Amino acid sequence: MLGLMQDWPLLVSRILDHAALNHGEREIVTRSVEGPIRRYTLADLRRRSLRVAKALERDGVESGDRIATMAWNTDRHVEAWFGIMGMGAVCHTLNPRLFADQLVYIVNHAEDRIVFVDLTFVPVLQAVADQLPTVEKYIVLTDAEHMPETPLRGAVDMETWLEGVDEDYAWKQFDENTAAALCYTSGTTGHPKGVLYSHRSNVLHGMMCNQPDVLGLTSLDTILPVVPMFHANAWAIAYSAPAAGAKMVLPGAGMDGASLYELLDTEQVTNSAAVPTVWLGLLQYLDQEQKKLPYLNRLLIGGAACPPVLIRRFEEDFGVEVCHGWGMTEMSPVGTTGKMKQATMGLDHEAQLKLKEKQGRTPFMVEMKVVDSDGAEQPRDGESFGHLLVRGPAIASAYFRHDEDILDADGWFDTGDIATIDELGYMQITDRDKDVIKSGGEWISSIEVENVAVGCPGVAEAAVIGLPHPKWSERPLLIIVREPGSEVGKDEVLAYLDGKIANWWMPDDVAFVDEIPHTATGKISKLDLRRQFADFKLG
Ligand code: ADP
Repeated sequence: MLGLMQDWPLLVSRILDHAALNHGEREIVTRSVEGPIRRYTLADLRRRSLRVAKALERDGVESGDRIATMAWNTDRHVEAWFGIMGMGAVCHTLNPRLFADQLVYIVNHAEDRIVFVDLTFVPVLQAVADQLPTVEKYIVLTDAEHMPETPLRGAVDMETWLEGVDEDYAWKQFDENTAAALCYTSGTTGHPKGVLYSHRSNVLHGMMCNQPDVLGLTSLDTILPVVPMFHANAWAIAYSAPAAGAKMVLPGAGMDGASLYELLDTEQVTNSAAVPTVWLGLLQYLDQEQKKLPYLNRLLIGGAACPPVLIRRFEEDFGVEVCHGWGMTEMSPVGTTGKMKQATMGLDHEAQLKLKEKQGRTPFMVEMKVVDSDGAEQPRDGESFGHLLVRGPAIASAYFRHDEDILDADGWFDTGDIATIDELGYMQITDRDKDVIKSGGEWISSIEVENVAVGCPGVAEAAVIGLPHPKWSERPLLIIVREPGSEVGKDEVLAYLDGKIANWWMPDDVAFVDEIPHTATGKISKLDLRRQFADFKLG
């Protein structure tokens, strides 16, 4: 027997309707790419998004067409998102940090028809535009006054493009499983693969993130999403913030410590989210300028393992609660967050800090388990590690235009991460499976060694890779970028690690470099490091 409740498709446009009607006065503040701070309201956002949808329809865009964006987090970018999805097209976010050949591959694979592009990235697209035959038009997210001369096909500034288009438009209605957005993973091996979100998965994931133990935004909050909209859905914030009526502060191109501090302070931001490197940059600025963060309550830090020193400093010196999170593009992206729970409240401060280093536990709507190489589920004892598998309504079931089966017979997706889960459900990533160091039949967690190493005075960034070893098969090499002015050496670093990690995890050698290579999503590129150190002889 079926229930007798209303059929109310979970469409992304409904979030905006709700936000405009119930929180229409709430502000969205943007550091514009042109420079000045712009502010308007959620009601304005809805009006502008309706105009975008109507203008796309005028231009002949049809349901299911892929419309790309390459932009910072700004008001105009959010308008483009809701406009594209609201008229039934698919919003394809492009990561401007991708290598040119990957970008060309992605745009052609998706067959994008229009690209919304920020002023900053016009040159990036100009360099490859002759290889993008499907793109009919480039809409530059600026006004006529700031519009550059560009040979991009059909280039027009957004304000001119919207001229004469009013907001008298009704969002398209369709099945909630209709595709809404497309995001390619950076593809460290092989071609990038497209994750195709649906309206339903986006709405459910946005609601999931508004559970109190995840982002938990309310109408009293002000959120600064530093994590880019072009990286895994901006961790759902473009959906969860309007749904909750939270004020949004969008940083534009200003991701450095000084620019972020200015927004955190003047806009009285209560919550923020970004990868660890961003927060390391802010910390440096706060220390230099002797600043405090009186308004900030909570930071969500994820995308890469959060160094313990970051958790300690924000919690102890700034009174900001740090919530470590883990996820991936295929998961929309949030998978776990590390909020304390009743059973951990009795732990002392140090034990809580230690627990916060773990990647956290799943909210409702994510299932996870750890299995060994034969697929046998491992106990939740915090020790047994293996492949981390996930399942849920906002997790990919296939890649866009790929035949490959990515789920096992029971519908589980292998994240490619190696992890443990403890009795209370807290998961800890020990490595990506391709980065694991196998020494004498045992596994060394490169992440854990890195985490400890960045705490060593004078160390700015650390990476650990496995190098071939005649006896142990692989042994760890620690690669370090020193802080400016620091002369920290191998012996000091090893002495610092001594006692903090297992003896047999001790790196066989330490190499110092000026720079560690990063992927397009800002993570340490172990693939490049392994290539770079292929001939290195461990000392
Ligand atoms: P890409 O692979 O394109 O960089 P993702 O952002 O989807 O894109 O990367 C997801 C991966 O990032 C995860 O599978 C995991 O290996 C890593 N990751 C994300 N968050 C964390 C975290 N808090 N700690 C450790 N690793 C993390």
